[in-house]
Amino acid sequence: MTFILKTLFCFLVTTSPAWALHIMLDPGHGGIDTGAVYGSAKEADLVLKVAQRLKTLLEQDPDFKVSITRTADRVVALPARVKLAEQVKAELFVSLHANAATDPRAKGVEFFFQNHLPPDEESLFLASQENQLMINAKEINEISGGDDLSKKGDVAAIVEDLQRQNRINSSLRLTQTLTRVWRQDKDSTHAAIKQAPFYVISKTSMPSVLIEIGFLSNPREAKKLLNADYQKDLAQKIYSALVSYKEKIEKVPAKITVN
Ligand SMILES: [Zn+2]
Repeated sequence: MTFILKTLFCFLVTTSPAWALHIMLDPGHGGIDTGAVYGSAKEADLVLKVAQRLKTLLEQDPDFKVSITRTADRVVALPARVKLAEQVKAELFVSLHANAATDPRAKGVEFFFQNHLPPDEESLFLASQENQLMINAKEINEISGGDDLSKKGDVAAIVEDLQRQNRINSSLRLTQTLTRVWRQDKDSTHAAIKQAPFYVISKTSMPSVLIEIGFLSNPREAKKLLNADYQKDLAQKIYSALVSYKEKIEKVPAKITVN
């Protein structure tokens, strides 16, 4: 083992510290923007409840630092959510929503991450529903208008591209971890990974995931989502996935082999 490697190894071992992963929780909608509503099941309320339970779990764990985009039933514009995450330098953005579909049999949890693949029609429709507030605010240009790389220098563009790739990989990794947690529970409902151009996960500079916690349009699932124990279980599952995600990213330095 060379001196440099030895030093590096000691540095990694002795300094791999308890660093807290800063998570921005984002309960979707709020205020006049109720999100999907089926009977007494209102998306804005349900996602806030799950987000608050998840926040409590994360606050109790020194491995995490947690912020939240809203703690009450109020409107927070989509750009403000992204801005907040950037301001506090959050390292992970977790947006919570609840789904709705024309087919009442549609069920399960869906995890969305941002990538460059063309989204399927269904996902595009869902994204347009979730981005509705923006559309109403006539800020649609803001949604579709990407950064113009040609205005930047080549190096800046390359760095930006690498950062974007890294962000996409981390987002995918997190969605895969979430799916794994869901699949471990045999009683758990179907879980799928998808991608769609949701504003909040497209515009954040940190890895991000949007979780549709279930279909309010499915009467059985809506009933479950209104149940406090089920909300607790959802929060617990997301928390477990975040713990596992953090363990995985902490293992990166350990991959350095020392002879
Ligand atoms: Zn929503």
